[in-house]
Amino acid sequence: MCDYIFSVVKMACCGCFGFMRKTHRSLVAVRAPGGQFKQEFLFPEESEDNDRFYMYNGEGDSFMSEGLSRSCKSFEEILQARVKSGLTSREVPVKETRQLIRSEDDNGNRMVNEYVRECRIGAGSYGKVVLYRSTKDGKHYAIKVFHKSHLLKLRVAPSETAMSDVLREVSIMKILDHPNVVKLIEVIDDPDSDNFYMVLEYVEGKWSCEGCGPEGGLDEETSRRYLKDIVTGLIYLHSNNIIHGDIKPDNLLVTSDGRVKIGDFSVSQVFEDDDDELRRSPGTPVFTAPECCQGLTYCGRTADTWAVGVTLYCMVFGRYPFLGETLQDTYDKIVNDPLVIPDGLNPLLKDLLEGLLCKDPRRRMTLQAVATHPWVTGEDNARVAAQL
Ligand code: ADP
Ligand code: MG
Repeated sequence: MCDYIFSVVKMACCGCFGFMRKTHRSLVAVRAPGGQFKQEFLFPEESEDNDRFYMYNGEGDSFMSEGLSRSCKSFEEILQARVKSGLTSREVPVKETRQLIRSEDDNGNRMVNEYVRECRIGAGSYGKVVLYRSTKDGKHYAIKVFHKSHLLKLRVAPSETAMSDVLREVSIMKILDHPNVVKLIEVIDDPDSDNFYMVLEYVEGKWSCEGCGPEGGLDEETSRRYLKDIVTGLIYLHSNNIIHGDIKPDNLLVTSDGRVKIGDFSVSQVFEDDDDELRRSPGTPVFTAPECCQGLTYCGRTADTWAVGVTLYCMVFGRYPFLGETLQDTYDKIVNDPLVIPDGLNPLLKDLLEGLLCKDPRRRMTLQAVATHPWVTGEDNARVAAQL
């Protein structure tokens, strides 16, 4: 850790343009200082400074290490090997800018290089997300802004700071190129500045409101369209051995023409092969799969699939399937309570929800099965439902 910080300070930039030598990320849960889980972390609200509190549980790297340490290869090595072998290539590579010029436009609006600041649009775990407009192409961009000194002070594990989380997010996003995944356009990392910027394509909408969704849920048609996009994007990620780790409405952005794009790769993992065993889930409690609530090892892909099920449930009913008063209570419900599906729901949709929210990960519906499920493909519903 000290070596790492030292090297970063010496370089005075995040090293996001190369691959830094780190071995694995660690876990983490959403906790308040002092280790008490708080209700509000079940539903993180946007606030000016809503840092995600990661707490090292003191059990050492070996306990907390996840799939990447198991493979002995760092995420940088895995990604680099993949880029070299041409397995992942972007049509337009991420622009890497090492010079930051802050100025003002004629109207007194603050500028970062060619981008003019408009307004703040989100609070990230480690920084904020701000809407900018480029003077070059006139387009909007969502820029995630971090302070390197702040990231380096936030320890997420004995040998890691929040900086490694951000660098991993950048490294993963650099190789992603899919219509259902938010694109990283540029990274601005000036060695002479404490600021670090991720310039993302701007996606103007969200379907989630405070909490989990519109009251009463979305209509079936919209839910189906959104689900298709989420599943297509996630199949792409999984086929590239990337586990998202935090699928939930907040991280699913909707374009003006109603397409969903998966964003927020801040807790994502990359694997060398199909073996996606993880140890601890850093995602959001109400979206956590039962096998992750029990402190067991679990497969990242099936855990992502469970989160898709919770997301679909939220879309359809406008509320969470399992929610307790406390974090432990929520976990207990996820593990033990039967799934309750209100009467009157389309039997095909009921079948799909039961398949996705199957507590046993080995029997859980796969994303491929979801993609061809009759509710998703919109086959003759009455005929198929009669067969169920
Ligand atoms: P965090 O890891 O802190 O959750 P996110 O990447 O999810 O960070 O960004 C936080 C919020 O900022 C999102 O929930 C969303 O409201 C907004 N946001 C992030 N990226 C974009 C984007 N590309 N377009 C529009 N809004 C975005
Ligand atoms: Mg997020």
